[in-house]
Amino acid sequence: MDFEKEIARRRTFGIISHPDAGKTTLTEKLLLFGGAIQEAGAVKNNKIKKSATSDFMEIERQRGISVATSVLAFLYKNFKINILDTPGHKDFAEDTFRTLTAVDSVIVVIDVAKGVEEQTEKLVEVCRMRNIPMIVFINKLDREGKDAFDLLDEVEQKLGLSVTPLSFPIGMGYDFKGIYNIYEKNINLFSGNSKKNIEETIAFDNLEDPDLENIIGETAAQTLRENLELVKGVYPEFDKKAYLDGALQPVFFGSALNNFGVRELLDCFVEIAPTPRPKKAEERLVKPNEKDFSGFVFKIHANMDPKHRDRLAFVKVVSGTFERNKPYLHVRLGKKLKFSSPNAFFAEKKEIVDVSFPGDIVGLHDTGNFKIGDTLTSGEALNYRGIPNFSPEHFRYINNADPMKAKQLNKGIDQLMDEGVAQLFTLEMNGRKVIGTVGALQYEVIQYRLEHEYGAKCTYENFPVYKACWIDPESDNDEFREFKRVKQKFLAKDKSGQLVFLADSAFSLQMTQQKYPTVKLRFTSEKE
Ligand code: GDP
Repeated sequence: MDFEKEIARRRTFGIISHPDAGKTTLTEKLLLFGGAIQEAGAVKNNKIKKSATSDFMEIERQRGISVATSVLAFLYKNFKINILDTPGHKDFAEDTFRTLTAVDSVIVVIDVAKGVEEQTEKLVEVCRMRNIPMIVFINKLDREGKDAFDLLDEVEQKLGLSVTPLSFPIGMGYDFKGIYNIYEKNINLFSGNSKKNIEETIAFDNLEDPDLENIIGETAAQTLRENLELVKGVYPEFDKKAYLDGALQPVFFGSALNNFGVRELLDCFVEIAPTPRPKKAEERLVKPNEKDFSGFVFKIHANMDPKHRDRLAFVKVVSGTFERNKPYLHVRLGKKLKFSSPNAFFAEKKEIVDVSFPGDIVGLHDTGNFKIGDTLTSGEALNYRGIPNFSPEHFRYINNADPMKAKQLNKGIDQLMDEGVAQLFTLEMNGRKVIGTVGALQYEVIQYRLEHEYGAKCTYENFPVYKACWIDPESDNDEFREFKRVKQKFLAKDKSGQLVFLADSAFSLQMTQQKYPTVKLRFTSEKE
């Protein structure tokens, strides 16, 4: 097998969007093109409709049966495509942030009527900071929506992107006639027939061709010519390097539900989207075509069935090949581990795989060895940098409600934190445990899982905190000692042992910064 060729044909990406923009529908249509699924409706929407635990649990239960939904892999034109699932619900945004450490590019789905929404803004910002190449797909063109140029403006302004349309709609909603594909120079007519899988396209090199009038009508032809003229004048020409550097974002229009404009998106995607990218370890930059294996854990999925307590750790292969039954170094633990049944993921199933290549995701059965961010290698002591922890939004004391089950509770809390469900802070003063989360929903999830998976019961108590600030570094001077003495009640250690100041209000945070200027407070856990 040609190692370089295997790398060159891999495309690992995530689809991000605000809930309801059409991520699930688009995913499904992409899988249909790959022949990975036979019919629509095969991809479970893992959306949480209400902010209710029952909904979340139902999803988790289904996923427990088919964890394959976390990674959907398929072949298209001999490309091996891996789609990594990113939860859209805001309470699980951290999960999505972490998954974004494992993608090589993303497709951003935007609803033509709603435009740029809150969750899209947050997720795109993370991608922008990391220069992840992005393609924008404007969805639901079969419905009335915003004017295409207004939308492009909105994308540029709200998301801070530089766009260039690679397709352009002809009409919209009731008058939607089709799409002119700027990239392929052809017209794709919309018939509104959702059963049609492959649309017919009409080649159109020369827009002045009077046939255009015959095909889409006089007014539409006129408008299209004007619009394309404007596109040419306003937007830069597509440049692959700029796209790969994260400096230019191509835009496609279509309707995922009608499978319209999806093939164009996919064809362009496989051509321009990056092959597995090099990744920065703390020690050095690691290239995918290096011979030695390295990879990192970006997600841990618990088995919701209490009879099978094992978890699945998702490892992205960064370099070399991952092989079954070979010993690999677990860098944090400093020990070698072997995996007899690593999983590869396909659209509807997972199966044991002998060898995986850069860009691939392997699922490893784990009984508690892994934490999010752990690195595995052939032997070199590399540490991949993940996404740092940000200050949680909510804080609550967690109390043990069943004194007979203290051990189970501690173990459960420990493992859930390793999975990245929430953040744990232990107060310096009295050792009490505080759980910090992004959304209130997580408290219910933790309570439920502690009970059902670990047989432990907990209660919560409010702990008013405005922000968690990491302190770097701890120093031994008078000011620091004074700070520690005065603020003792508000100091805690995070799970990795870093000292954290839990400010109870914006005012107290400001006062503290003024009073102890040499105490450096950071808003993320990552050391500069
Ligand atoms: P997600 O939350 O981003 O995964 O969104 P879904 O894929 O579940 O889509 C949300 C809703 O929008 C569903 O009812 C879809 O049927 C609908 N939808 C998706 N794509 C289109 C489209 O192109 N046109 C129309 N009219 N509806 C769409």
